[in-house]
Amino acid sequence: MGVLLVALAGSASSSAQQVAGQFPAHWNQGSTDCEHHARPPLEVEAYNSSTYILRESLCQTYEGNFLYLLIGTKRALLIDAGDVEDPAQMPLARTVEGILARTAPGLPLLVLHTHGHFDHRAGDGQIAGLGNVEVVPSDLASITRYFGWKIWPDSQGQIDLGGRIVDVLPTPGHHEAHLVFYDRQTQLLFSGDMLLPGRLLIADTAADLASARRLASFGQSHPITYALGGHIELDRAGTTFLGVNYHPDERPLQLTAKDVADLPSAIADFNGIYSRHGDYLMINQNRVLTLYAACALLALALIGWGIGRWWRRRKLNKSRG
Ligand SMILES: [Zn+2]
Ligand SMILES: [Zn+2]
Repeated sequence: MGVLLVALAGSASSSAQQVAGQFPAHWNQGSTDCEHHARPPLEVEAYNSSTYILRESLCQTYEGNFLYLLIGTKRALLIDAGDVEDPAQMPLARTVEGILARTAPGLPLLVLHTHGHFDHRAGDGQIAGLGNVEVVPSDLASITRYFGWKIWPDSQGQIDLGGRIVDVLPTPGHHEAHLVFYDRQTQLLFSGDMLLPGRLLIADTAADLASARRLASFGQSHPITYALGGHIELDRAGTTFLGVNYHPDERPLQLTAKDVADLPSAIADFNGIYSRHGDYLMINQNRVLTLYAACALLALALIGWGIGRWWRRRKLNKSRG
């Protein structure tokens, strides 16, 4: 996989126990001709011996989702289940089962999601078919019940994987039940679709801004090596990949603690519909779709008016002539 970039435990605020890891120099970039250039459907990279990053092939889904498998001494946690349901197309369950059999045989698996958009939970069905697995549904009621949260979103949860605690933070805004995960062992922050090298799709600006502020304040008391999102949608020149199976010269997956700290000022700049802050394209998809629908209706009304006018003139000319 070429040269490996080493995530050094270099920050002064890092605790002594922080376990470092490695990212590949680049991810499988998909293809313009997926049919004739078959790619492995799921790329598996070991960040370290107990942390795995799984990336769905861009040829299987242009979403190219990233999934994360964290292994403790008592259980393993899979964050997100990806965009492809069919195990014949995306051998997610078999792959996760294989990693666990090799590295931590017999450990139970817990599956949680950054949020309930389909591309983060489509693989739930095949994972649920494995033995010794608990899949927590991604809707708000199920999540608050699982963590015993009474006050949403001003609560925090912890998952004990055995010698490895993962903090869970409610971060609605992109999705009403969005969660961000923080692994104290690697100090990686798993930021889902709230923060990623790509578009920031914001459904509820006020909620998203409040979440970004809570996350930034969490980052002040918890050292963050990197923030890892659910997708990569940008190339190194800042061009956005949209709905394509080929991502040449993708940006790295990993964002920094500074990106987490700067997120509130980016979202505070959002005009509520469509705006840009640095390389972030911020979009409220619902409002953009409503605007498109309104424009389409207006165009239809103008065409109708134009046809009516032409018809009346034609009739008038006929009656005169
Ligand atoms: Zn999403
Ligand atoms: Zn997504």
